[in-house]
Amino acid sequence: MRILVVEDDNDLNRQLCRALADAGYAVDSATDGEEGFHLGDTEPYDLVLLDIGLPKMDGISVLEQWRRSDRNMPVIILTARDRWSDKVAGMDAGADDYVAKPFHMEELLARVRVQMRRATGHASNEIECGPIRLDTKSARVTCDGQQIKLTSHEYRLLAYLMHHTGRVVSRTELVEHLYDQDFDRDSNTIEVFIGRLRKKLPGDLIQTVRGLGYRLSSDGDAA
Ligand code: CA
Repeated sequence: MRILVVEDDNDLNRQLCRALADAGYAVDSATDGEEGFHLGDTEPYDLVLLDIGLPKMDGISVLEQWRRSDRNMPVIILTARDRWSDKVAGMDAGADDYVAKPFHMEELLARVRVQMRRATGHASNEIECGPIRLDTKSARVTCDGQQIKLTSHEYRLLAYLMHHTGRVVSRTELVEHLYDQDFDRDSNTIEVFIGRLRKKLPGDLIQTVRGLGYRLSSDGDAA
């Protein structure tokens, strides 16, 4: 899952990026409204954290323009605590949630998880597929109750597939949602990681759908 952070306070921007990366997300960041708008308009993010007070283009305008051009990713706005009117304007402009500064990182991460699972139709932080259980809060994966050790790239890949269980996910979609914009996006790396994941997961959980991509399914159907 890939997140865009648009925040002009450099320290806060860095803290957010680090916390989100530690939580298993791919993260891009922008420090002004124009750059943020452009990234959100051209890249397929799973969620955006958007500051309201931004140089070059304010957060409300950024959000309004995204929504006008049907960019429907979940957006959490970051507002100043005493600016209740920003919260109202942000929600009316199409924000899904807000967090008032200063905030606890844990609260922000919890709100991110809520938006991620709503957007993918899951009701809890724990997603199951056959014997596999993924806890998006602790970033832990178990198989029949036994913990499976995954690298951060393997975790990202499995988390994306598990959020979209039963659906065919193309290699291009995986590349776009697992890596930040600076990553060398060679779609062959996806095959390598799929191969590694398959060795750690039981049987035919990750199916190859020839010419289309991959599907995570517990029903064992031949693809
Ligand atoms: Ca600001």
